[in-house]
Amino acid sequence: MEQVKCFMPQTLQEALQIRKEYHATILAGGSDLMVSKSMGPGITPAFTDPVLILTGVKELKGIRKNADGSVSIGALTTSAEISRSELVHPLLIDAASRMGAIALRNSATIGGNIGNASPKGDMPQPLILLDAELVLKSVDGERRMKVDDFILGSKKTALGDDEIITEVILPPQDFTHIFYRKIGMRRANAISKLTLSAAATVKDGVVVDFRASSGAAGPKVARSRAAEEILIGRKLSELPAVKDEFLDAWNGVISPHAMPEYRRNSTRRMLAYFIDALAAGHPAGRVE
Ligand SMILES: Cc1cc2nc3c(=O)[nH]c(=O)nc-3n(C[C@H](O)[C@H](O)[C@H](O)COP(=O)(O)OP(=O)(O)OC[C@H]3O[C@@H](n4cnc5c(N)ncnc54)[C@H](O)[C@@H]3O)c2cc1C
Repeated sequence: MEQVKCFMPQTLQEALQIRKEYHATILAGGSDLMVSKSMGPGITPAFTDPVLILTGVKELKGIRKNADGSVSIGALTTSAEISRSELVHPLLIDAASRMGAIALRNSATIGGNIGNASPKGDMPQPLILLDAELVLKSVDGERRMKVDDFILGSKKTALGDDEIITEVILPPQDFTHIFYRKIGMRRANAISKLTLSAAATVKDGVVVDFRASSGAAGPKVARSRAAEEILIGRKLSELPAVKDEFLDAWNGVISPHAMPEYRRNSTRRMLAYFIDALAAGHPAGRVE
């Protein structure tokens, strides 16, 4: 097999230069790439393009709070680091802390989880609910884009061939109620069969914000702002009357390729459970 070039830059500027010059394949934790390129035990993985290993680029690591209350997560931050952070929204912590097993969580990065754009990737699901944005950098500049717009479909993203995801930005959120479920074959090392996040803000008995997003239920994370609008502005006492309208609208946005009935019914039940809890006056906090 022909040898491929492999780069290990120590600065972001250097990484961006290499990305532009060679359109090199970005390798972060390698937990997706080393599997997809694997040729079997003891055999060198089948990379055909130059490889850009990001692990030495310190500028891409860490989590910080910004002056406007938003939180920036470097693309190389691992799911283990995210799951331990006090700055990160609990819904993202839920997703990060249920990924794989601990060895995986120590190498799997948030940039890789988004860049891989797997329908079963766990972190894009809460990120889309939270309206998270990405910073995409190239030597020629930077642009910001919502995660929802960046992931175009299964394994398809809007990443330019000279760009690197450098940061994920979580806008400040003040939901009063949140809900998270991951359904997998077992608690550790299970790829998601279905995930769901839901969040609401209730003020003076009125739902002023409501969001839901569902993973592993279609080619990309499902979220329907049109369905959410059915519940926003409603008094808690009105929720039972509009619940089915919401659930029917929601079911229309998920398009599972396998076990559609199971995935639609499970999603419907979980959302109904969350809405019933709100209608029953569940105290602020996590709905379990
Ligand atoms: C045993 C096992 C269990 C797993 N369990 C789960 C699970 O429960 N949930 C889950 O979501 N995933 C799971 N995964 C998949 C994988 O671990 C995650 O998707 C992980 O977050 C990928 O991150 P990484 O840093 O290893 O990515 P890499 O493998 O390095 O890269 C993945 C993709 O993203 C691109 N990329 C990486 N970084 C960037 C960047 N900064 N900018 C642009 N593109 C970038 C790469 O080019 C590549 O296309 C599992 C994998 C294994 C092997």
